[in-house]
Amino acid sequence: MTDLHRLSIREMSEGLQKAQFSSRELTQHYLDRIAKIDPQVKAYISVCSELALAEADAADTLRKNDQAGQLTGIPLAHKDIFCTKGIKTSAGSKMLDNFISPYDATVVEKTKAAGLVTLGKVNMDEFAMGSTSESSYYGATRNPWNLEHVPGGSSGGSAAVIAADLAPLATGTDTGGSIRQPASFCGLTGLKPTYGRVSRFGIVAFASSLDQAGPMARSAEDCAYLMNVMAGHDDKDSTSMEVPVDDYVAQLNSTQLKGLRIGIPKQYFSVDGLAADVKARTEQALQQLKDLGAELIEIDLSMIDSYVPTYYLIAPAEASSNLSRYDGVRYGYRCDNPVDLKDLYERSRSEAFGAEVQRRILIGTYALSAGYYDAYYVKAQKVRRLIQQDFLKAFENVDVIAAPAAPTTAYKLGASLDPVAMYLGDIYTIAVNLAGLPAINAPVGFDAQQLPVGLQLIGNYWQEAQLLSVVHQYQQSTDWHTQRPAIAEENA
Ligand code: GLN
Repeated sequence: MTDLHRLSIREMSEGLQKAQFSSRELTQHYLDRIAKIDPQVKAYISVCSELALAEADAADTLRKNDQAGQLTGIPLAHKDIFCTKGIKTSAGSKMLDNFISPYDATVVEKTKAAGLVTLGKVNMDEFAMGSTSESSYYGATRNPWNLEHVPGGSSGGSAAVIAADLAPLATGTDTGGSIRQPASFCGLTGLKPTYGRVSRFGIVAFASSLDQAGPMARSAEDCAYLMNVMAGHDDKDSTSMEVPVDDYVAQLNSTQLKGLRIGIPKQYFSVDGLAADVKARTEQALQQLKDLGAELIEIDLSMIDSYVPTYYLIAPAEASSNLSRYDGVRYGYRCDNPVDLKDLYERSRSEAFGAEVQRRILIGTYALSAGYYDAYYVKAQKVRRLIQQDFLKAFENVDVIAAPAAPTTAYKLGASLDPVAMYLGDIYTIAVNLAGLPAINAPVGFDAQQLPVGLQLIGNYWQEAQLLSVVHQYQQSTDWHTQRPAIAEENA
């Protein structure tokens, strides 16, 4: 079969169950596509062919013995920020280019236990800091819709492999938009869960009070399958919560669109720099949701001007603390011939961290330093609380909040050299992380250059099932999520 990659996760699961194809065939099909197409997309840092085929064979044996679960034998790719035992985990950095984790992240443990087959590890901005995947030590990944454009970031590799059909599912992480923005740039569905919903254990830390892992795929239905595997409390992550996990697949039709109150923050749609096509496509999608029975209600989210300054103090502050562990001593890169300990620290860190990571460490260290702590870090934490309260107030009157995922479609490669301009592009995603809320991106059309546009829906705490359900029903009556770039139509 040449078109296995066109199946949804449900169809793949059924095909495996009915023995229409084996996991080995399905896995080999993706490995062949990766060998042929990935040299253009440049999304994989590590392809695990042998291991994947061995996992596929094990999955086929489980199926023969009637011990298979729904996802047993279905392939996926992991963002290279999830620790994988025996396979390099680089976080896109020279610092970890030689790092082979001695253990699996909880998310990886769970995907293995569900029988999912790991195709490989995919590219990302260095330590997840960025919005284009260009800050990776391994070079830029291309947007499958137009190879001259970026796939977004930081989970750009995860988005690119799904858009080009080089994996049917991928994990991502989202500290300030890194699942939703690349999903938007590549025409995909991506869910950033409530903070505490998914274990952070074994995920290379960027900003620990903001980091959260989630699923990326074509549709809300596909995401729901992976979310069922990823979600849940973990004793190894003290910030993961013991809140009952929904069956996200079973609940795909559980939310009534009729009467659903969708909040439209008036400040969000009048942002300077919101591209006309993005505004038009997102408004069109909202109109469609209205036609399906939802009620559109204008709301106020007046803290919007504080989002970027608050996030860009808190995230770098936590990063500077988290990244202090890379000392050239215990693991990771070590400079040649250090003359003393100070030289070892200095040269190991300056030789192995890229420019954006060093910039964040400098900003964060400054914000946390004794003389400036109150003026910057403490103040930012207070503003963070106000941002959260702004959302909670809005949720008194609406069920979900709609926004663009990003002000523009995918940038051209090399276009975003100015860091501040890049930070401003995070305006629609970062407040969600500051507040710890769940949010989803759904593809809703294209701009004049045929680049995808995304709509973001933000939910109240623990409402992932509702977000997936709303997007699923929208996708039942639209076909943006099934459209594929030309490169995905190529056969291996
Ligand atoms: N673009 C944002 C940043 O650079 C978000 C990154 C992320 O979510 N990991 O920090």
